[in-house]
Amino acid sequence: MNLFETIEKTEHEEIIFCHNKDAGLKAIIAIHNTTLGPALGGLRMYPYATEAEALKDVLRLSRGMTYKAAVSGLNLGGGKSIIIGDPKKDKSEALFRSFGRYLDSLGGRYITAEDVGIDVNDMEYVFQETENVVGVHQMHGGSGDPSPFTAYGTLQSIKASLEQKYQNQNVGDYSYAIQGAGHVGLELIKLLHAEGAKMFVTDVNQDVLTICKEQYGCEIVGLDEIYEVDANVYCPCALGNTVNDETIDNFKFDIVCGSANNQLDENRHGDELESRGIVYAPDYVVNAGGLMNVSIELEGYNRERAMRMTRNIYYNISNIFKIAERDNIPTWQAADRMGEERIALMGKIKQPYMNQKKVKFSGRVRNNNQ
Ligand code: NAD
Repeated sequence: MNLFETIEKTEHEEIIFCHNKDAGLKAIIAIHNTTLGPALGGLRMYPYATEAEALKDVLRLSRGMTYKAAVSGLNLGGGKSIIIGDPKKDKSEALFRSFGRYLDSLGGRYITAEDVGIDVNDMEYVFQETENVVGVHQMHGGSGDPSPFTAYGTLQSIKASLEQKYQNQNVGDYSYAIQGAGHVGLELIKLLHAEGAKMFVTDVNQDVLTICKEQYGCEIVGLDEIYEVDANVYCPCALGNTVNDETIDNFKFDIVCGSANNQLDENRHGDELESRGIVYAPDYVVNAGGLMNVSIELEGYNRERAMRMTRNIYYNISNIFKIAERDNIPTWQAADRMGEERIALMGKIKQPYMNQKKVKFSGRVRNNNQ
């Protein structure tokens, strides 16, 4: 891989390779864009087969964070980090404290959080070495589990999508096909149940399905059957890439709106949804509630504020639908455009020199007698 050519293409600002042999640390921190503020994004631990694969992942994920923060109206940039290793056997205090020290050296340009393979205990070690962590335990002033916020943001997105499709955002008037009743999915099911919605649910976990059926009146369907049910809204809350060549022909849905990341197998599947008249609420805008929630830790966590911010996802999604109509483009593209427009505009307002930091001409002497 030609490193600088790659960075030029992906438009990253900085990539940091962190290595500590004694701690077994091999990590990469990718800072994509800090126009809007410090880069924020999770730390992932994964046994990548090759270093090139690890680099590709961190570059892709960090770029995604720039867009997610930008469209969500946050004053944050995009970044992400990875540790190469098996979370089941390679974790240690030294590993995370070593990572924390590298993170601290960046002086707040990048702020980390939990992601796949990392839990709150690992973050405790990172937190011992640096302030630049969010998603720490509630006893340290952290924000706790982000899933209820992600689910609440998904509900707001569903309302905006119903308004777009039917000019009626009464959630209880429609039916929902929910794939995955995990942290986010089950919270969403509770919210939809409270609105009186009809729900079809699938999951690989039978125990959770029993809860869905007995407590929330959901109809249980098979893992592949979910793509074919006669429901108004498909809510992917488990896996990525489920809008693909195999599934899309079975869709009877009018709306795709769920919390999963990377729902479109390829962008052309977003075009395909558009041409079939299916409203697609772009995934990274829908599921920004978790990011909004942790971002509030930077100013001092406040749950009410997090709820208020998450409610705004309704307007973010509505704006994307407007941009899509204005520019005659599919919604996935409108989301990217909205993020890019905000970064370009905010970059410009930061441009003129406003003397925010008083310049000190130290050592200068003005002798008026000469
Ligand atoms: P989770 O692991 O708690 O839940 C996923 C659920 O999907 C589990 O119940 C699992 O059994 C089920 N599942 C796995 N394979 C399945 C399959 N083939 N078919 C149906 N169900 C299957 O994860 P989560 O935190 O609820 O996140 C769900 C999705 O939302 C993920 O894609 C995640 O990246 C995304 N997301 C989550 C958050 C958050 O705050 N938790 C924020 C942003 C995005």
